[in-house]
Amino acid sequence: MAKLFLPGPTNVHPDVLARQARPMIGHRSHACADLIGRIQPKLRQIFATQSRVMLATASGSGLQEAAVRNLVTNRLLVCTCGAFGERWFQVAQANGIPADALEAPWGQPNLPEDVERALRQQPYDALALVHNETSTGVENPLAEIAQRARSLRPEILILVDAVSSAGGVELLTDTWGLDVVLTSSQKCFALPPGMAFAAVSDRALEKARQVPHRGWYFDFLQMDEYLARNLTPSTPAISLLYALDAQLDRMLAEGLPARFMRHAAMAAHVQAWAQERFALLAPDGYRSRTATTIRNTLGLDLDALHEHLAQRGMQIADGYGRLKGGTFRIGHMGETTLADVQALTTAIDAFLEMAA
Ligand SMILES: *Cc1c(COP(=O)(O)O)cnc(C)c1O
Repeated sequence: MAKLFLPGPTNVHPDVLARQARPMIGHRSHACADLIGRIQPKLRQIFATQSRVMLATASGSGLQEAAVRNLVTNRLLVCTCGAFGERWFQVAQANGIPADALEAPWGQPNLPEDVERALRQQPYDALALVHNETSTGVENPLAEIAQRARSLRPEILILVDAVSSAGGVELLTDTWGLDVVLTSSQKCFALPPGMAFAAVSDRALEKARQVPHRGWYFDFLQMDEYLARNLTPSTPAISLLYALDAQLDRMLAEGLPARFMRHAAMAAHVQAWAQERFALLAPDGYRSRTATTIRNTLGLDLDALHEHLAQRGMQIADGYGRLKGGTFRIGHMGETTLADVQALTTAIDAFLEMAA
């Protein structure tokens, strides 16, 4: 099995993988309620929230859909600066939610002053943005954007795709006044894919009460009612809940400050290495701490590079969408260590020597 340096899915610790082999329990049993009850306070620590963290059996995109369906009565502003922001805009459109996209060029961040200007144009009731744009390796200045939006529009709902940052980068949901912070299991949480988690504020639930057709599967009000009893409205991925319970213990045992420092150290190594040999797509000050997008300035044959790494048991990612060929990506998130990324860059250096 190759070690994954992808921006998801990421490597899962063997103990956590093994947890999934436990026998099934009924999803209305005390055992299942105990399990969800154990998970909930740990998730709240990771999201730095006192409110609630909803559990969905879906990938993160499912909760993007949930957020726009449950929380917009008037008009949504979606910040885009890459593929995942654009996806969120498409999700809104596909659900018939009136929305405008505030576009930054791929490779650049969404800037607080641009968001503020856009918010003055229309009475938007919600703002959606991506914290860490995984396609371009850009980390948006989330705290500052949220603060500006909140002071301009105290009632606005701030919806954050934190799929590739939650659990790897500090994210202060309550302090920054965020209303939905959603993520997927298979990125910095280092779990198999199949579940998604979202911190949801009281303000968001109040808003959901004004929305008549929230859908059924992702109805935040129904999810909240069940969660209050440590249940889910429909059958959850019980095997993944076992794994989540164990992985949250691992994350908290490492300690969140140490976990965030490990991610920052991996990013610093990969980015310094890449700048000496290639160029980074993201500008200084906005570089992702969990995934790096490298411009293929040497015109490398990326298929040959993948093959070289595969022989050494390693896998990196191609550029995303329209960036394929011109860029490649290194994920440094989840359980990956600094020693792992050092071994990866050493292996790529060997390829560069052969190619020279
Ligand atoms: C991976 C990713 C997604 C998509 O998540 P799924 O779990 O595949 O639905 C969305 N946003 C960002 C920022 C991502 O990195």
